Amino acid sequence: MGKNVRILAQLQEIDLKIDSSRGEAQALQNEIHSLEAMAAEKQQDIAEQKSELSVIEEEKRVLEENLATESDSISRSEIRLREIKTQKEYQAVSKEIATAKKVKTDLEEQILQKITRTDELNVIIAEKEGKLQEFEGNASARKSELQDRIEQLEKAIADDSSARNVTAKDIAASMMKRYETLRQKRQGLAIAEAKAGSCMGCNMNLPPQVFNSLFKEENFVCCPHCQRMLFLRQDNDEAAAG
Ligand SMILES: [Zn+2]
Repeated sequence: MGKNVRILAQLQEIDLKIDSSRGEAQALQNEIHSLEAMAAEKQQDIAEQKSELSVIEEEKRVLEENLATESDSISRSEIRLREIKTQKEYQAVSKEIATAKKVKTDLEEQILQKITRTDELNVIIAEKEGKLQEFEGNASARKSELQDRIEQLEKAIADDSSARNVTAKDIAASMMKRYETLRQKRQGLAIAEAKAGSCMGCNMNLPPQVFNSLFKEENFVCCPHCQRMLFLRQDNDEAAAG
Protein backbone atom coordinates (compact mmCIF):
# COMPACT_ATOMS: atom_id res chain seq x y z
CA MET A 1 0.00 0.00 0.00
CA GLY A 2 1.46 3.32 -1.08
CA LYS A 3 2.17 5.74 1.73
CA ASN A 4 0.41 8.45 -0.26
CA VAL A 5 -2.89 6.63 -0.02
CA ARG A 6 -2.77 6.69 3.77
CA ILE A 7 -2.13 10.44 3.67
CA LEU A 8 -4.90 10.79 1.08
CA ALA A 9 -7.21 8.96 3.49
CA GLN A 10 -6.41 11.63 6.10
CA LEU A 11 -6.98 14.32 3.50
CA GLN A 12 -10.31 12.76 2.60
CA GLU A 13 -11.41 12.82 6.23
CA ILE A 14 -10.70 16.56 6.31
CA ASP A 15 -12.43 17.05 2.94
CA LEU A 16 -15.51 15.17 4.11
CA LYS A 17 -15.65 17.37 7.19
CA ILE A 18 -15.35 20.49 4.99
CA ASP A 19 -18.07 19.12 2.65
CA SER A 20 -20.36 18.52 5.59
CA SER A 21 -19.72 22.00 7.06
CA ARG A 22 -20.34 23.58 3.65
CA GLY A 23 -23.53 21.58 3.20
CA GLU A 24 -24.81 22.61 6.62
CA ALA A 25 -23.87 26.27 6.06
CA GLN A 26 -25.67 26.22 2.71
CA ALA A 27 -28.80 24.71 4.27
CA LEU A 28 -28.78 27.38 7.00
CA GLN A 29 -28.24 30.11 4.40
CA ASN A 30 -31.24 28.73 2.49
CA GLU A 31 -33.32 28.89 5.65
CA ILE A 32 -32.34 32.58 6.11
CA HIS A 33 -33.34 33.28 2.50
CA SER A 34 -36.65 31.52 2.92
CA LEU A 35 -37.42 33.52 6.11
CA GLU A 36 -36.63 36.70 4.19
CA ALA A 37 -38.79 35.61 1.26
CA MET A 38 -41.69 34.85 3.60
CA ALA A 39 -41.42 38.31 5.24
CA ALA A 40 -41.27 39.95 1.80
CA GLU A 41 -44.37 38.04 0.72
CA LYS A 42 -46.28 39.19 3.82
CA GLN A 43 -45.15 42.79 3.25
CA GLN A 44 -46.25 42.58 -0.37
CA ASP A 45 -49.66 41.26 0.69
CA ILE A 46 -50.11 44.16 3.15
CA ALA A 47 -49.00 46.67 0.49
CA GLU A 48 -51.66 45.28 -1.87
CA GLN A 49 -54.38 45.62 0.79
CA LYS A 50 -53.26 49.19 1.51
CA SER A 51 -53.33 49.98 -2.16
CA GLU A 52 -56.90 48.63 -2.42
CA LEU A 53 -57.80 50.72 0.65
CA SER A 54 -56.51 53.93 -0.90
CA VAL A 55 -58.38 53.24 -4.15
CA ILE A 56 -61.62 52.77 -2.20
CA GLU A 57 -61.00 55.88 -0.10
CA GLU A 58 -60.51 57.89 -3.28
CA GLU A 59 -63.73 56.45 -4.77
CA LYS A 60 -65.55 57.32 -1.55
CA ARG A 61 -64.19 60.89 -1.68
CA VAL A 62 -65.53 61.32 -5.26
CA LEU A 63 -68.92 59.90 -4.24
CA GLU A 64 -69.09 62.31 -1.29
CA GLU A 65 -68.33 65.21 -3.62
CA ASN A 66 -71.13 64.08 -5.93
CA LEU A 67 -73.43 63.72 -2.95
CA ALA A 68 -72.67 67.27 -1.81
CA THR A 69 -73.32 68.58 -5.33
CA GLU A 70 -76.59 66.67 -5.50
CA SER A 71 -77.71 67.96 -2.06
CA ASP A 72 -76.94 71.55 -3.05
CA SER A 73 -78.88 71.11 -6.25
CA ILE A 74 -81.88 69.72 -4.33
CA SER A 75 -81.80 72.65 -1.86
CA ARG A 76 -81.64 75.15 -4.68
CA SER A 77 -84.53 73.45 -6.50
CA GLU A 78 -86.62 73.41 -3.32
CA ILE A 79 -86.07 77.17 -2.89
CA ARG A 80 -87.00 77.73 -6.54
CA LEU A 81 -90.14 75.63 -6.06
CA ARG A 82 -91.54 78.20 -3.56
CA GLU A 83 -91.26 81.01 -6.11
CA ILE A 84 -92.78 79.15 -9.05
CA LYS A 85 -96.00 80.62 -10.50
CA THR A 86 -97.09 78.11 -13.14
CA GLN A 87 -98.32 74.59 -12.60
CA LYS A 88 -96.28 73.26 -15.52
CA GLU A 89 -93.02 74.67 -14.18
CA TYR A 90 -93.86 73.43 -10.68
CA GLN A 91 -94.30 69.90 -12.00
CA ALA A 92 -91.05 70.04 -13.96
CA VAL A 93 -89.00 71.19 -10.94
CA SER A 94 -90.74 68.68 -8.64
CA LYS A 95 -89.80 65.93 -11.05
CA GLU A 96 -86.20 67.23 -11.11
CA ILE A 97 -86.12 67.13 -7.29
CA ALA A 98 -87.50 63.58 -7.19
CA THR A 99 -84.88 62.40 -9.67
CA ALA A 100 -82.09 64.15 -7.76
CA LYS A 101 -83.29 62.56 -4.49
CA LYS A 102 -83.12 59.12 -6.09
CA VAL A 103 -79.56 59.83 -7.23
CA LYS A 104 -78.72 61.05 -3.71
CA THR A 105 -80.09 57.87 -2.12
CA ASP A 106 -78.11 55.80 -4.59
CA LEU A 107 -74.92 57.76 -3.79
CA GLU A 108 -75.47 57.34 -0.05
CA GLU A 109 -75.86 53.60 -0.57
CA GLN A 110 -72.61 53.46 -2.54
CA ILE A 111 -70.78 55.50 0.12
CA LEU A 112 -72.03 53.10 2.80
CA GLN A 113 -70.62 50.18 0.83
CA LYS A 114 -67.24 51.95 0.56
CA ILE A 115 -67.26 52.62 4.33
CA THR A 116 -68.04 48.96 5.03
CA ARG A 117 -65.18 47.88 2.77
CA THR A 118 -62.66 50.36 4.24
CA ASP A 119 -63.61 49.17 7.75
CA GLU A 120 -63.04 45.57 6.67
CA LEU A 121 -59.72 46.41 5.05
CA ASN A 122 -58.53 48.35 8.08
CA VAL A 123 -59.24 45.32 10.29
CA ILE A 124 -57.49 42.95 7.83
CA ILE A 125 -54.46 45.25 7.51
CA ALA A 126 -54.12 45.69 11.28
CA GLU A 127 -54.34 41.92 11.73
CA LYS A 128 -51.77 41.23 9.01
CA GLU A 129 -49.44 43.90 10.35
CA GLY A 130 -49.64 42.33 13.80
CA LYS A 131 -48.83 38.92 12.37
CA LEU A 132 -45.98 40.33 10.29
CA GLN A 133 -44.50 42.00 13.35
CA GLU A 134 -44.69 38.73 15.28
CA PHE A 135 -43.19 36.83 12.35
CA GLU A 136 -40.37 39.34 11.98
CA GLY A 137 -39.60 39.15 15.70
CA ASN A 138 -39.33 35.36 15.57
CA ALA A 139 -37.50 35.40 12.24
CA SER A 140 -34.96 37.88 13.53
CA ALA A 141 -34.19 35.69 16.56
CA ARG A 142 -33.94 32.60 14.34
CA LYS A 143 -31.79 34.41 11.77
CA SER A 144 -29.37 35.50 14.45
CA GLU A 145 -29.07 31.87 15.64
CA LEU A 146 -28.50 30.72 12.08
CA GLN A 147 -25.94 33.45 11.47
CA ASP A 148 -24.00 32.45 14.58
CA ARG A 149 -23.94 28.82 13.48
CA ILE A 150 -22.85 29.82 9.95
CA GLU A 151 -19.98 31.83 11.44
CA GLN A 152 -18.91 28.81 13.51
CA LEU A 153 -19.02 26.64 10.39
CA GLU A 154 -17.04 29.17 8.37
CA LYS A 155 -14.39 29.23 11.06
CA ALA A 156 -14.30 25.41 11.08
CA ILE A 157 -14.01 25.38 7.28
CA ALA A 158 -11.11 27.87 7.45
CA ASP A 159 -9.32 25.76 10.09
CA ASP A 160 -9.92 22.53 8.18
CA SER A 161 -8.74 24.15 4.96
CA SER A 162 -5.45 25.11 6.65
CA ALA A 163 -5.07 21.54 7.93
CA ARG A 164 -5.88 20.29 4.44
CA ASN A 165 -3.15 22.43 2.87
CA VAL A 166 -0.58 21.07 5.35
CA THR A 167 -1.61 17.47 4.58
CA ALA A 168 -1.83 18.05 0.82
CA LYS A 169 1.80 19.26 0.72
CA ASP A 170 2.99 15.66 1.19
CA ILE A 171 1.01 14.30 -1.73
CA ALA A 172 2.32 14.07 -5.30
CA ALA A 173 0.47 16.31 -7.78
CA SER A 174 -0.54 13.34 -9.98
CA MET A 175 -2.05 11.56 -6.96
CA MET A 176 -3.91 14.72 -5.95
CA LYS A 177 -5.37 15.02 -9.42
CA ARG A 178 -6.47 11.41 -9.39
CA TYR A 179 -7.94 11.88 -5.91
CA GLU A 180 -9.92 14.99 -6.91
CA THR A 181 -11.29 13.34 -10.07
CA LEU A 182 -12.34 10.22 -8.17
CA ARG A 183 -13.97 12.27 -5.44
CA GLN A 184 -16.12 14.03 -8.03
CA LYS A 185 -17.14 10.73 -9.62
CA ARG A 186 -17.69 8.85 -6.37
CA GLN A 187 -19.79 11.20 -4.20
CA GLY A 188 -16.80 12.55 -2.29
CA LEU A 189 -15.21 9.18 -1.52
CA ALA A 190 -12.04 8.58 -3.51
CA ILE A 191 -10.29 6.50 -0.87
CA ALA A 192 -11.77 3.38 0.67
CA GLU A 193 -10.64 1.08 3.39
CA ALA A 194 -10.04 -2.55 2.43
CA LYS A 195 -11.28 -4.78 5.20
CA ALA A 196 -11.77 -8.55 5.48
CA GLY A 197 -11.27 -8.99 1.74
CA SER A 198 -13.79 -6.33 0.74
CA CYS A 199 -13.74 -2.75 -0.49
CA MET A 200 -15.61 -0.62 2.08
CA GLY A 201 -16.37 1.92 -0.67
CA CYS A 202 -18.60 -0.36 -2.78
CA ASN A 203 -18.86 -3.38 -0.42
CA MET A 204 -17.70 -5.75 -3.17
CA ASN A 205 -15.28 -8.60 -2.55
CA LEU A 206 -11.77 -7.93 -3.72
CA PRO A 207 -9.95 -10.63 -5.68
CA PRO A 208 -7.47 -12.28 -3.26
CA GLN A 209 -4.42 -11.14 -5.26
CA VAL A 210 -5.67 -7.52 -5.08
CA PHE A 211 -6.30 -7.73 -1.35
CA ASN A 212 -2.96 -9.43 -0.71
CA SER A 213 -1.04 -6.86 -2.72
CA LEU A 214 -2.21 -4.22 -0.22
CA PHE A 215 0.16 -5.68 2.37
CA LYS A 216 3.16 -4.61 0.34
CA GLU A 217 3.82 -1.07 1.47
CA GLU A 218 5.06 0.11 -1.94
CA ASN A 219 1.96 -1.03 -3.86
CA PHE A 220 -0.70 1.37 -5.03
CA VAL A 221 -3.97 -0.53 -5.33
CA CYS A 222 -7.37 0.43 -6.71
CA CYS A 223 -10.66 -1.42 -6.26
CA PRO A 224 -11.41 -3.20 -9.57
CA HIS A 225 -15.15 -2.53 -9.04
CA CYS A 226 -15.37 1.16 -8.05
CA GLN A 227 -11.77 2.30 -8.85
CA ARG A 228 -11.38 3.83 -5.41
CA MET A 229 -7.85 3.87 -4.02
CA LEU A 230 -7.59 1.30 -1.27
CA PHE A 231 -5.79 1.37 2.04
CA LEU A 232 -5.49 -0.89 5.08
CA ARG A 233 -5.77 0.46 8.59
CA GLN A 234 -2.37 0.23 10.26
CA ASP A 235 -3.86 -0.94 13.52
CA ASN A 236 -6.02 -3.49 11.76
CA ASP A 237 -4.66 -6.62 13.45
CA GLU A 238 -7.27 -8.82 11.87
CA ALA A 239 -6.25 -7.84 8.38
CA ALA A 240 -2.55 -7.91 9.24
CA ALA A 241 -2.96 -11.46 10.54
CA GLY A 242 -4.78 -12.47 7.33
ZN1 LIG B 1 -14.80 -0.63 -4.40
